Amino acid sequence: MNNTEKRGIYLSVVVPIYNEEGNVKKLHEKIVEACEDLNQSYEIIFVDDGSYDKTVEICKSLSNLIFIELRKNFGQTAAFDAGFKESVGNVVVTMDGDLQNDPADISKLLEKKKEGYDIVSGWRFDRKDSFSKKFFSRTADKLRKILLKDSIHDSGCSLKVYDGDALRGIDLFGEMHRFIPAILELDGYTVGEVKVSHHARVSGVTKYNWKRSVKGFVDMVSIWFWRKYASRPLHFFGGGGMLFIFFGMIILVWMSVEKIFFDAALSERIWPLMGTFFIMLGVQFFVFGLLADIVMKNYYKGQKRMNYTIKGVVEL
Ligand code: UDP
Ligand code: MG
Repeated sequence: MNNTEKRGIYLSVVVPIYNEEGNVKKLHEKIVEACEDLNQSYEIIFVDDGSYDKTVEICKSLSNLIFIELRKNFGQTAAFDAGFKESVGNVVVTMDGDLQNDPADISKLLEKKKEGYDIVSGWRFDRKDSFSKKFFSRTADKLRKILLKDSIHDSGCSLKVYDGDALRGIDLFGEMHRFIPAILELDGYTVGEVKVSHHARVSGVTKYNWKRSVKGFVDMVSIWFWRKYASRPLHFFGGGGMLFIFFGMIILVWMSVEKIFFDAALSERIWPLMGTFFIMLGVQFFVFGLLADIVMKNYYKGQKRMNYTIKGVVEL
């Protein structure tokens, strides 16, 4: 079946999977059960992210499944992206492949979505993970709220439902899957939240370690910059640059006054160097800004989009 033939499907369930041999069969069963209860057309998409255990074999023995195999382990974000691009559902549900999320919660999320949200995120209210994982995750959530100002508690929870077209309109890089609601909120989509159940991992091991916090932080800064300055990078770099140039000028003027009127000896002092340094830094910043401006204009032109999104047009 190609994508056009499949159109009309209500729900796509997308699950990234990496070495989950002990979980996939049961997970598939539970998802089918949950989807059948909904009485809606659905498709289940498992994306294998380069597993080297028996995951692929087991998945291939299942039916009622669209199975995408990535060539190697590209990471959860890439797996999600591949799944989204294959999906055709009006609504897309995502969840982890390790049974920590409960497919039975899908109906709860869909109910909430009917209230008018474009995205509904699960909130692992009673989370069954180690203390350190919860600690890092909660700290990241607090920071994310400050920087990105999104409206949810638990962005790391994979169990979410999305408006299919909204989701397919974005490309995901790095490890950005954690910030999809924040990215979509930038485009004006609305995000709701529902408490969902969470289970301890029974089979297999976590695929992440402490490096996740560092990558998550860098991704967050990138989205923060995007959120604030994507359409006007010159305001950031140009503004910063002007400030540096201004500081540098003040220092140099002050030094000149001392030299000319008070005959001060400057060769032993750090300030003339500092003044020159600030001015050069400022000029660099400004040039960065001009370049970033050109890059952004090309980006929007290349993507045939603008820095705003239209909800709809009516002729009355
Ligand atoms: N996963 C993946 N590729 C990766 C890492 C993880 O597809 O490189 C999948 C993994 O199989 C699971 C989900 O992403 O279905 C979440 O991973 P994990 O359970 O290890 O994360 P945690 O629950 O520890 O945050
Ligand atoms: Mg997990």
